[in-house]
Amino acid sequence: MKRTIKDLKALRGKVVLLRVDFNVPLDENENITDATRIINEIPTINYLSEQGAKIVIISHLGRPEGFELRKSLWPVALYLMKNLKCNVSFCNTVLGDEAVERIKALREGNVLLLENIRFYKEETQCDKKFSKKLASMADIFVDDAFGVAHRENASNYGVARLLPNAVGFLVEQEIENLTKIIEEPKQPFVALIGGAKVKSKVKILERFIEKADVILIGGAMAYTFLRAKGENIGTSIYYPESERDAKLIMEKAEMAGKKLLLPVDHLVVRDSDKKQKPFIVESMKGDMAGFDIGPKTMKLYAKELKNAGKIFWNGPMGLFEKEEYSQGTIAMAQAIASSKAFSVVGGGDTVSAVNKAGVAGRIGFISTGGGATLEYIEKGSLPALDIIQERVK
Ligand code: ADP
Ligand code: MG
Repeated sequence: MKRTIKDLKALRGKVVLLRVDFNVPLDENENITDATRIINEIPTINYLSEQGAKIVIISHLGRPEGFELRKSLWPVALYLMKNLKCNVSFCNTVLGDEAVERIKALREGNVLLLENIRFYKEETQCDKKFSKKLASMADIFVDDAFGVAHRENASNYGVARLLPNAVGFLVEQEIENLTKIIEEPKQPFVALIGGAKVKSKVKILERFIEKADVILIGGAMAYTFLRAKGENIGTSIYYPESERDAKLIMEKAEMAGKKLLLPVDHLVVRDSDKKQKPFIVESMKGDMAGFDIGPKTMKLYAKELKNAGKIFWNGPMGLFEKEEYSQGTIAMAQAIASSKAFSVVGGGDTVSAVNKAGVAGRIGFISTGGGATLEYIEKGSLPALDIIQERVK
């Protein structure tokens, strides 16, 4: 087991660098549309605050190219100011004199949120100098950003190597529950995979299928698979660079005797006439684009979920943010909620969908990761967590 913040003694007055995942969805007016990721972090912040630590929080938000005002963490700072008992301040840089001064001014038990760490390209490059600078600002490093633990970034992997470290409550919970799904002996293991981050997910999926017995594919991801099978997908979202991987996954599944299902019907619109209402088809034609799975697919997938021994779901079945394309995703959320299987749901958008469906309380465990969760279930470890010290008994 990893060392957790409970194992850290004498935190009073210490500067704790806390890496979190506040990558929350924002609307056009920079309002947070789903604060789950922040709410989940509050127990760790409160504990560190009660112990008298000076808490410096680092997070990313989206995938900015340099400084982008629209990807500032300022809305998150406002949320924290309203919802935390302790005092919260915000620093619009990560490094430099301003940050150093603000950390110096920080009182015991209070929070300083730094600006989006991905405004610095050194973050994703895991730059050594940059990691060193981050480490020099603090006494202790705490990793509670499960969602990025599959990436070796400066603010997790890089800095953890240079400071005494531990995981926060959120990562502790993730490890506990994901170990539970890995070790759950009930079969079959059904994986429902969808969403739009196809390029990064197919790589993990290729290994993941060894763990699952049934793989159900939906969402934007499905069209790359259907196209790889030679089907007409009209003008639906399609990722040509992932087509080969999709083919490989299907071949691998077949060889291993795994059941891999693709949608058998789709909710489409004719993109030549945007005003037209969506309708259901079984095979698409050139001018159609799919935005949700159809009713036959919903039934087919729901049946597999009902018979499952354990379930993992990542990735919405359609463009669920729009009411007219949300039915497939909602139906899957409900099917998982009514299933007797131990279920884990992960991914920012997927968790939003579960909340939208109102079934969050009936899911076994809601993971904060998407790709990270997929990778953890597959490997039983993640690079940024491997580097955290083990608990000494
Ligand atoms: P998660 O955040 O849960 O890991 P992703 O980020 O991979 O999931 O994918 C979520 C996004 O995929 C959502 O914004 C959803 O609207 C989009 N999406 C899913 N299916 C489709 C589709 N058929 N067409 C367009 N967008 C889709
Ligand atoms: Mg997403």
